[in-house]
Order: sequence, then structure tokens, then C-alpha cells
Amino acid sequence: MSEEAFLQRTVTCGQLSAADEGRTVVLNGWVHRDRNHGALHFINLRDRYGITQVVVDDDASGALQETASQLKLEYCIAVRGIVRRRPQDMVNHDMATGEIEVKAEHIDVLSRCDVLPFMIEDENNAKEDLRLKYRYLDLRGRGMTDRIVLRHRIVKAIREYFYRTDFLEIETPTLIRSTPEGARDFLVPSRIYPGKFFALPQSPQLYKQLLMVSGMDKYFQIARCYRDEDPRGDRQLEFTQLDIEMSYVQRDDVLALVEDLFNDVFRKVLDVELPRHFRRLTYHDAMNTYGSDKPDLRFGLEMKDFTFAEGCAFNAFTEALSAGGAVKYLVAPASDRQEFTRKYITSLEDAAKVYGAHGLAWMKVQDGTISGGVSKFFADKAGEIIEATGVHDGDMILIVAHENWKKCCNSLGAVRNRLGADLGLIQDGFAFCWIIDFPLFEYNEDEGHWEAAHHMFSMPQAEYIDTLEEDPGAVKGDLYDLVLNGYELASGSIRIHDIELQKRIFRICNFSDEKAQERFGFLLDAFRFSPPPHGGIAPGIDRLCMIVSNVNTIREVIAFPKNTAAASPMDDCPAEVEPIQLKELGLKIDAAK
Ligand code: ASP
Repeated sequence: MSEEAFLQRTVTCGQLSAADEGRTVVLNGWVHRDRNHGALHFINLRDRYGITQVVVDDDASGALQETASQLKLEYCIAVRGIVRRRPQDMVNHDMATGEIEVKAEHIDVLSRCDVLPFMIEDENNAKEDLRLKYRYLDLRGRGMTDRIVLRHRIVKAIREYFYRTDFLEIETPTLIRSTPEGARDFLVPSRIYPGKFFALPQSPQLYKQLLMVSGMDKYFQIARCYRDEDPRGDRQLEFTQLDIEMSYVQRDDVLALVEDLFNDVFRKVLDVELPRHFRRLTYHDAMNTYGSDKPDLRFGLEMKDFTFAEGCAFNAFTEALSAGGAVKYLVAPASDRQEFTRKYITSLEDAAKVYGAHGLAWMKVQDGTISGGVSKFFADKAGEIIEATGVHDGDMILIVAHENWKKCCNSLGAVRNRLGADLGLIQDGFAFCWIIDFPLFEYNEDEGHWEAAHHMFSMPQAEYIDTLEEDPGAVKGDLYDLVLNGYELASGSIRIHDIELQKRIFRICNFSDEKAQERFGFLLDAFRFSPPPHGGIAPGIDRLCMIVSNVNTIREVIAFPKNTAAASPMDDCPAEVEPIQLKELGLKIDAAK
């Protein structure tokens, strides 16, 4: 290509300041805004780095005037010109380059732009599917660009941390054996072995454990994970996690490493100083006090046991207790942001019912006493209740009773979250916490057997090892989650490295020795060859970027995400394939499905 191919930039659109006055520069970029003031023509030229104002003065040559008058939004152009200070009253303090403008001497149109499907704005308000169809244009907007740049900086800081601390970055395969890890696997048919399939990894879990058997000792990877789940909530079929595994560690070593990592990354990327250590809550306390195993600790509203339920005249409360359940309350403080109308209380009740609550009981505090709702059952205890709950006039006491402790907690936890948002109680900032001492197993009611709460490779806590089979529900695991602002940011565990113990866990989870050998034989084989004690964790990169960018879906921090229906409007996939491709794979589509 000749040097003359096009007028190549010497500076970016985010770079110039008053110190550059008098320089002749070349800018390349897109016409962001374009306006005429009499004979003056102003062009805001945009690239990834910023926006610079270009002026075609009234003394410009006829040719330049002509080119300028033909410009349209998003034309890609090259401008040669001289940097000059703007007159004092024209300085734009909202713009990084607002002190200067470039007086154009020459403009070339590098490429023209068709009719735009939407304007390129800082934040694009077009329908999401339209944004995703033209994602390359959507990404030109400042908000998207900034988020992608922030994501890059976060990943870079993470990598730098691990390189500095002696971790090895190792890639694990994306075509693997289908090994159940909780969700449904994506399958890839093998052409060479008709009727056989690879799976895409739900995470590199088994490979990172095998790397510990190999002696790699400290491993990390920015790993793409795939889960074939139904579209619901803020899920993506493929997502990215920071996958970490270490040998010869115990739980607190992993937690300390992750605290150090996030301290470093937040300092470097966001200039935010995090607490050196994050608060730790047991699973039981998190559920009991905040009604969630991923509590948002940016606000209080702690839940407590409603001790007045015992022996009271309200059957729903006494029945819940006698069935071994719980009756819990929280106090919604009087607020000028939200009146506690019947309608509002019903909407809170609906939020609770999603988690299994039968109802939401309430009492209003007024004129120094309780009124409305279930207060009539507690008339003789009004003074005691007011004192014990510490309520004031205008507050509401909200109560959930359930025969199942977990459902009681989760239901009132949902009310807590709604109140936090609706009453404006959520503080700015980053509230990290660890959740520890999780149950190792959960009962799968539909299939009628126990299954791993996290995954089957996590170590039970030592005191339960001898009696695992007797009461799986009581077993606590060496598991930990990292929670940030109400989101589960990471899960991890100390792993089993004993073949017999691993087999016992498989059996409890309904995997016979034969089935376990068939699915996980390679792991069990490896465990015959002196595996070291090891453990790890995997923070979600998409979620992390979403939280620090202050947006509410991970699609806003992924360059090319799938939409909420798990498809890509841009390249229109998933899509049918040529019959010959199916034939080569030995596959037939069942038209009836
Ligand atoms: N593989 C686990 C997950 O994806 C994380 C871990 O245990 O390290 O959730």
C-alpha cells in the first residue's frame, strides 16, 4: 500500500489540549455531530479516545467548504488542521479536549455511512435487539466503548497480578468429555467418530484439578464457560470466569489471595481502596439475618426472629413454629420515598410469595402503638413489641412465617431487597463479603436424591467425614462464595483429593461406582497417582465488570452477547446448516421436535 493511501492520523480525538496550540495535526474518526453557524461549520470528530471539535472557517477554500457541506453523521473522515485555543467563552469544560479546536485545512472522506438504524449516543435507547443486530455501531457509543475499555483494564490488571505472583496461565481444552457439573452441556458431534460427541466445558474444573496432579501448583486462566440453560434472568450461554486453582492450600489461603487480588485490581483500575479483609458470614447467618446466601450489605434492614409468635393467637405463626419452621420479621423504617399503602404491602407480599411465603403479615406503628394487619392478635403485647423491635411511629413491622426455615428466610429476604431499593437505603460503594460453611449437599425433590450444592469435587469439613452417609443434609462443606453488592461473584472450594472419599460423594449424589467410573474415570485414575491437597475459586468476569460499571445486565459489558432469547440477532444464530454438513456428522433432524 502506498504511503499516500490515506491521510493517516498523527493524534487521536481524545488527546489535544491547550499545550498543543499551533501544531499541525491529522485526525481520523467519525462525524459525531455536524452543525453550521452561518459560514462556520463545526464537526465533532469521534474515535475510541474522545471527541475533538473541528472547525471549517469562513475563510476556507471552496473545495474544503464543498467537502464539509457533504459530510453526514458517521462518515469516516481524515482532517488535517491546526490546533487553536477556543475563545475563553467557548471553552467546553465537559469535554476533555474542550479547551481547543482544530481549524481544518483539508478533509478527506475515508468512507460514507448508510442511513443509521439509530443515533450514536452516549447511551443507546434503541430496543435491545436492534442494538444487538448492529452491535458494531452500538459499540461506537461512548457508554459501550468505555465499558469495553474498563473490562480490558480489569482483565489486564488481573493478569498482571497473577504474573507477578508466580501463577501459570494455562489453557484447557474447549472440546471435552461430557461430564455433568450441574447445568446442561453443549454437545459437539464428532465427524471422525460418528455417534460420538464432545462437550463444551461448563468450567475448566476437572482440568484445573488435573493440572494440580501435574504439579503446576498455581494456575489461572481467563476461561470461557458454556452452559446450555434456558434463557432466564441475566444468563448467557457462554460467559467468562477467572479460573484459579492452587496446591497445598487451605480455605483461608484462597480467601487471602482473592482479597489481595481484588484490593490490587480495584486500586489500580478504579482508584478505590477496599478493606484489606472482607467480612465473613456463615451461610446460616447470611440466610438468617439477610434472607439470602448473596446478601447485599450496602444496607442494613436485618431480619430477626419474631419471638412473640410462640403461643400467640395467630395460627399461621404457631403452626409454622410447631412444624419446625420459623417466624421472622424486619422493620421497614418510615420513609418519604415510599408510603406504606395497602397496594405497596401487597406488592411486597408478591415478592415474598415468589420464594414460597404463604403471606406477609404486617403491623403499623402509630401514636406509640401497633395497629392494622395482625396487630389485633398482639394487642396485649404492644408495648413489649415496640420496645423489643425498637420501632418508631410511621415504621412497619413485616413478618413471614413458614414451616420451612429456608423458605421463611428467602421470602423475607426478597422483601428486604425490595425495601432497600424502594426506600433508597442502598449506599454507594462496594460491599464484598465471604459466605462460608455452606451445606455440601442439597436434596433434589424432583429426582428424589441428594446432589452437590456446589459441585461433587468439594471437600466436606473434617468433622463430618466419618458420618457423611448418615445425614447428608447436615454436612457442611469446605465451600466459599464471594459476594459483591448482592451478587454471587465467585464460588470455590477445597477439593477432595482422596479417591475413596470422592467415590463416597459420588454415591451419595446417586452416581454408582460404575457410572462414576464411566463419567469421571479419568479423574479417579489421576487420583491414584498422589494428588496434592488443592483448592480454588472462579470469579465471574462479566458480573464483576457489570457491577463496577453500574449497569444491570451482563450484556452491557460483553462485546457480542446473545439476547434474552439466547440468540444473536447480528449473525442470526443459531441457524440451520447445510444438509451435507449434517450428513457428514451422521445426524438427522427430527422434524417433529
Ligand atoms: N468450577 C467452579 C464453578 O464454575 C468454580 C470452582 O469451584 O473453582 O463454579
